[in-house]
Amino acid sequence: MQSYIPSIGMEVHAELATRSKMFCRCSVAFGGQPNTRTCPICLGLPGTLPVPNRAAVEMVVRTALALNCTIAMRSIFHRKNYFYPDLPKGYQVSQYGDTNPLGYGGYIEIPTSDGGVKRVGIRRVHLEEDTGKLMHLPTGESGIDYNRAGVPLMEIVSEFPPDIQNAEEAKDYLVQLRQILLYLGVCDGKMEEGSLRCEPNISVRLKGAEKLGTKTELKNLNSFKSVQLGVGYETSRQAAVLEKGEKVLQETRGWNEQKEESYLMRIKETENDYRYFPDPDLIPMVFDDAYIEGLRKSLPELPLSKSQRYEKDYGLDRKESWEFLVDPEWSRFYEEAVKLGGDPRLIRNEMVSEFAKHLNETGIPARESRVTPAHIVELTKLKKEGQITSKMGKDVFVAMVKDGRMPAQIVKESGAVQISDESQLTSIIEEVLKTHPDAVAKYKGGQVNVKGFLVGQIMRQSKGQANPEMVQDLLQKALEQA
Ligand SMILES: [Zn+2]
Repeated sequence: MQSYIPSIGMEVHAELATRSKMFCRCSVAFGGQPNTRTCPICLGLPGTLPVPNRAAVEMVVRTALALNCTIAMRSIFHRKNYFYPDLPKGYQVSQYGDTNPLGYGGYIEIPTSDGGVKRVGIRRVHLEEDTGKLMHLPTGESGIDYNRAGVPLMEIVSEFPPDIQNAEEAKDYLVQLRQILLYLGVCDGKMEEGSLRCEPNISVRLKGAEKLGTKTELKNLNSFKSVQLGVGYETSRQAAVLEKGEKVLQETRGWNEQKEESYLMRIKETENDYRYFPDPDLIPMVFDDAYIEGLRKSLPELPLSKSQRYEKDYGLDRKESWEFLVDPEWSRFYEEAVKLGGDPRLIRNEMVSEFAKHLNETGIPARESRVTPAHIVELTKLKKEGQITSKMGKDVFVAMVKDGRMPAQIVKESGAVQISDESQLTSIIEEVLKTHPDAVAKYKGGQVNVKGFLVGQIMRQSKGQANPEMVQDLLQKALEQA
């Protein structure tokens, strides 16, 4: 087989986290009884007038700034005309043109496995509205739910010709983009609920060829995994088609998650003509520099620069930093703990073990837990200073979760302090050796692994409070002298 180079363009739709719809005051909440979140405006009834949602515009501009775009200081809405039952007005309000969308000509940086970053161009970031949803009922009939019609939708399109060249990069792009949207608070990023949707287009060409191949578009990808698998599948499918001497057709294909293969939805013979024209009901959006600069200043620290800071300042590796970054809440907790003066490495270890397990099991978000950053910091200090063993740490943790007492107080009240006193430990060890002369004999006879048994007995004798490292040393000495 010859060598083929894939080119992947990414089209991402993000439902904006506003309270109300794009041009009316209906709620954008997910679900609900069909057609209960509608009004004459989002149903497109005659005589109604749309009023743009200021919060939605602001979210798109902030996203465009975070994606290093140029902002269109004067931007208009267009009507994209087509007929489909999920589109009550007969047109979708969108933004057309190269330099009219709220943001254009930007880029996103994605971390690469060699520790560097790859820059992927962003062609446009624009604002439009979502459509309704066709529902195929068990009775065999079809219904339409307009609850989603008119929900503000942001479209983010990667640059053409595409910078993305394989399935993993496609996934990484989406991971990074979703992360940015979460940090900006502009989208909840729930791919399974459809509030974040990704439609990659894929083409392959022979290595060395200048011209890009015919592309297909992939739909129904509702997880990172399906994006990666889908793009990978489509790349090999197209290469196999070309290898047979056949032509790749310009198709829209769906993704079958169970079979892990793509299937034909429809063939695109010609580009649709949407007869775009400026929406006469909506006046142009005009911004001034002060407004844009104000929004630029309001941007939070973005995930990639945060992860680079964690690596540099806290000594975490990339994988460890991303454990925090996937959840803004989790990384906020971590940073607060570090700020309180804890050791960044120990705090990380403490958080990802007992604490993460506890949150996972109970389903409580970190901010609602009785365990605060101060608890974690104090616990790591007690362990580091040798006041408690890691086994005792677990008990302290359980008590801490239960009633929110501080670790030092729990230790004090239980009287359970780690025994690091040499003479005290020595007397426990001597006692254990006296009660197990057979084990000592075995050790002398060369069965050194019996030492583990003795350590266990000593820890039990001390109710788990003996300093484990000291026990190892002192026991070794005692056995040599026995
Ligand atoms: Zn409405």
